[in-house]
Amino acid sequence: MERLQKVIAHAGVASRRKAEQMILDGKVTVNGKVVTELGTKVSKNDDVEVEGVPIDKEEPVYYLLYKPRGVISSVSDDKGRKVVTDYLPEVKERIFPIGRLDYDTSGLIILTNDGEFANMLMHPKHEVDKVYVAKTKGIPSKEQLQQLKKGMTVDGEYLKAVHAKIMSTDGKKNTAIVQVILHEGKNRQVRRMFDALGYPVDKLKRERYGSLDLKGMNAGEYRPLKPHEVKVLR
Ligand code: URA
Repeated sequence: MERLQKVIAHAGVASRRKAEQMILDGKVTVNGKVVTELGTKVSKNDDVEVEGVPIDKEEPVYYLLYKPRGVISSVSDDKGRKVVTDYLPEVKERIFPIGRLDYDTSGLIILTNDGEFANMLMHPKHEVDKVYVAKTKGIPSKEQLQQLKKGMTVDGEYLKAVHAKIMSTDGKKNTAIVQVILHEGKNRQVRRMFDALGYPVDKLKRERYGSLDLKGMNAGEYRPLKPHEVKVLR
């Protein structure tokens, strides 16, 4: 048995707090009866509806995918391009990616059907280290990389890195490999920050997300998260 607001949040209908409000507002029925009591417990056999729509009662599942380049971080694409869920064909639950990696960016992405977990990880106050490795055109100086940590306004949006350091440089090709750690996950954040510095990103990979990494995996491979891996992210 689970608390009603938790079941609604897990189904991805709303955050737990919003689910509580929906219950209080009389928008939720259990087996056809309006329930306004927040502590109400329900089982898998109970029919829960929110505003007349049955909620999905799938078991929550969590996967880690090594997204290759050239794949959309979505569950479908109207132009017929490959999407991340194409790489988990055996998974029958209705999973979706938590956040996005650009089409041209490879690396670690989590997929789940747990809407509450996804909302929690994407909330700005949830500060998890996201470690990226960028290959830049041109070699930024240490001082320029400091700018990423100080923060910068790009297209009216304030962007900031937690950490940025040069891993290696290639003087002949005039390229650098830079490790960047973000807590935020704003749209194309790494690329936009390096564009603003004047060193466009040629290749980008997310190597780590919190305590999760891609060790032992090849692009296109996935694995289920272990229960303790899910727990530490919460
Ligand atoms: N920053 C980017 O520029 N792209 C991503 O996909 C993720 C972070």
